Amino acid sequence: MSTRAPASIISEKKQGISASLKDRLHARLVEWFDVHQRKLPWRTTKDPYAIWLSEVMAQQTRVETAIPYYEKFLAAYPTVHHLAEAPLEGVLGLWSGLGYYRRARMLHRTAGDLCRSHSGRFPRTKVELETLSGIGPYTAGAIASIAFREPASVVDGNVVRVLARIFNDDADGRTPAGLGHFRSLADALIHDDRPGDWNQALMELGATVCTPREPACGACPVSEWCEGRRVGTASDLPRLAKKPKPIPVAYDALVAAGPGRVLLAERSHEGLFGGLLEPPLFDANPTLSEAAFTAGMSLTGALGTVHHTLSHRKFSVAVHRATQPVDGVPALPMSSAYVAFHLVAWPLPEGARVSTLARKILAFSLET
Ligand code: SF4
Repeated sequence: MSTRAPASIISEKKQGISASLKDRLHARLVEWFDVHQRKLPWRTTKDPYAIWLSEVMAQQTRVETAIPYYEKFLAAYPTVHHLAEAPLEGVLGLWSGLGYYRRARMLHRTAGDLCRSHSGRFPRTKVELETLSGIGPYTAGAIASIAFREPASVVDGNVVRVLARIFNDDADGRTPAGLGHFRSLADALIHDDRPGDWNQALMELGATVCTPREPACGACPVSEWCEGRRVGTASDLPRLAKKPKPIPVAYDALVAAGPGRVLLAERSHEGLFGGLLEPPLFDANPTLSEAAFTAGMSLTGALGTVHHTLSHRKFSVAVHRATQPVDGVPALPMSSAYVAFHLVAWPLPEGARVSTLARKILAFSLET
C-alpha cells in the first residue's frame, strides 16, 4: 500500500477519534440503517437468546442460508432452557448442512452452562458475557449492544473492511495485533446512543455497500469522510494475510445399505464433524478392502470420486458399495475417529445429523 492516510486522519487515530467525527459518522450511518437495512428475522427481537443464535449462525455463513436454520431452531428450541435440555443429537440434526458443526456443539454446551450458572438468564454486559465458555468478544458485543443497549463494540470481517477503508488503515485484520487495533478503533467509535443499531449498521454497510471487491461508494452514506475512497485505496483494503490453502486429504468410503437402512459411522464428539454420522471412511485402500474382508463383506471397485472442500481440508473420497445388502451392523474394525456404527433409516429422515460431505457420498452412490 503506497498511499498513506493524510496527517490529519493519522493524528486523529493516534489521539482518538474526534467527538465531531464520531457524531457525524454515527448519525449518518444509523439514519441510513433505518431506511436501508435488510429485513432479517432477528432484527425484530431484543431477546438475547434469539440474538445469540442469529450471531452464531451468521458467522461464516451467508445470511440467506442462515435464515431457515434460525427459524427452525427457534421453533424447536424457543428458549435457552429448551436448547439446554435437548439431546445433542437433535441439535446436530437441525444444524445439518449449515457446516462448522463445532458451533452447534458450543451453543448446546453454553446453553447448559448458562442454565446451571445463571438460571438461564443472559448477563447484560460484554465483560460478563465473555466469561461464558463459547461466547467470544464478537458475540458478547453483539448481545450486549443489541439486546441490552450497552455501548460495546463488535468487530467482524465486515467491520474490519469498513473501518480500514474509512480510515485508510493498512493494519492486517487477520493478525492478533491487527485485530486488536481494529477493536480499539471500534471501541473509540461506539456511541451511547443506539449502540446496537450502530454495530449492525457498520456490518450492514460492509455486507451490502462496502463489499470486498467493488465498494459502491456512490451509494455510501459515509463517503464524504472516507479516506480510502478519497485517496483511491479503498479496493485494496483491508490488508489481510493470505489464508493457508486447504490441505488435500483422500479417503475411501463404504456405502453399505440393507432394505430401508444404511450403515453409518458416528464420529467421536471432539474434532472434525464431531458427533455426526457418515458412511464409514477409511484412510485409503487397501485399508477398506482389509476391513471389509474382516467383516465378511465384498465390495464394488471405486464407483467414482466425490470432492468436497472446507476452509482447511480438501476431500477426495473414492466411493465403494458393499455388493450384499447388510442385515445387521457388520463387524468392521473401528478407527479412532469413530465411536459406533449404526444402521439408520434410509432414505435419511428429516433432521438426520449428517454432514454435507456424507450426503454427497450417499447421493453419489445412489446415482451411480
Ligand atoms: S466510501 Fe466506499 S470505501 Fe468508503 S466506506 Fe463507503 S463504500 Fe466503503
